[in-house]
Order: sequence, then structure tokens, then C-alpha cells
Amino acid sequence: MRITLALLCALVGVSFGAPVALIVDAPAPLPPAVASAFHQEVDLVFRETGYNFSWVNRAEMKPEDSFPDLVVLRLKSECRLDARSSSGPSGKPLALAWAHRSGDEVLPFIEVDCGRVRNMLRVLAHGEPVGVQQEMMGRALGRVVAHELYHVLTGNSNHSHAGIAQASLSASHLAGPALEFTQREVNLLSRRSFAAGRTQQPSAAFAADEFASDSGR
Ligand SMILES: [Zn+2]
Repeated sequence: MRITLALLCALVGVSFGAPVALIVDAPAPLPPAVASAFHQEVDLVFRETGYNFSWVNRAEMKPEDSFPDLVVLRLKSECRLDARSSSGPSGKPLALAWAHRSGDEVLPFIEVDCGRVRNMLRVLAHGEPVGVQQEMMGRALGRVVAHELYHVLTGNSNHSHAGIAQASLSASHLAGPALEFTQREVNLLSRRSFAAGRTQQPSAAFAADEFASDSGR
């Protein structure tokens, strides 16, 4: 795994205006309705920032594939609301997603714990048709990933008082009306600092301290 990720990141370079490839590393393919809502939500949240994204399933990548800019999204557990829960709801606030760090640098590696997202949405999703549940899951994934992408793309670990970049996202934030960046984050993202003149150190990514105090606490 580390070798593969190292190869992926060796391909990271400097490019402005090109889409940022989001490499999805999931234990099983997402249901199409979940994936569709997931991608649409990320695009929606970033629509004012100038960023656009292409989506790549890691399992379908070919050795010759290359991407000017990329971020790896590792999805843990099953990202669907009809999956069996491995544990009951926790009384403790747990991070739904986090970006890895090396020292002060935020690395382009995001992990999402779909089991925790599922547990958070379970009450709101109860009794809803499968199609609605899949859309809820996809939208929630889009919001927690958008939050972490903000950290990765700006290199900024600070949070906002409101919107998608606030420190804690509740169940109603994940399932409710659209969440947006505030003007502060739009300004930071518009500087397009990601990958500009910095060298990625992918080998450090999975040895780095986990940036665990993040979205969904
Ligand atoms: Zn955060």
C-alpha cells in the first residue's frame, strides 16, 4: 500500500486550473446513487472556489495514469446506510474524517470512517426509502470530504465559525440544507496554493500523526 501511494504522489506536480484528481480507495465500490450524490455535493460546495475535481477509483487505475494534482480519499468501512452497523451509537464525539499531517503540513491523504457517518445518520434515515438513504449518505460523505479538502487544499488547519469549515458537523449539518464555505474560506481557496511549489512527501503520510480532531465531532 505504501509503495502504491508513494507512486501516486510522485505524480503530484504543479498545475493551475487542471482538475484535482480525487483517488477513491474504498473496500467495495460505492452504490451508484451514493457515489453520484457524493460527487455532486463536493462540486456544489466548491462551486465558488475555482476548483474542480475528477474522480478516480483506485481499483481501476492503470500504471500509466498520471495526474497533475491529486488527493487520496481512503474510505473505511461500508459507505452505505443499509450496511450492518458494527457498533451502536457512541456517546463520545468521534471524528468522521481527518487529513493526515506531517508536522505542520497537511498531506493530501484523507480518511473517512463511513461507519461513524452511518451511525450519525441512522436516526434521521430510519424509515426512509433506500434511494433517499443512499442520497443522504452520499451528501454526508460529500460534506465531510469537502471539509477535509479545505484543509488539504489550503494547508490551513483553522476552522470557521459557520458553514462547511466549522470544527464540528452534526447529523443535521450532514443531512440538512446546503452547507457552504464562508467568504474567508473562499478567499483562502481562491489563492490556489495547493501543490504550488511544494514537494509532497508521500512516504511520510501514513507514518504521520493522525489529525483526529476534525469534522463531525
Ligand atoms: Zn477540520
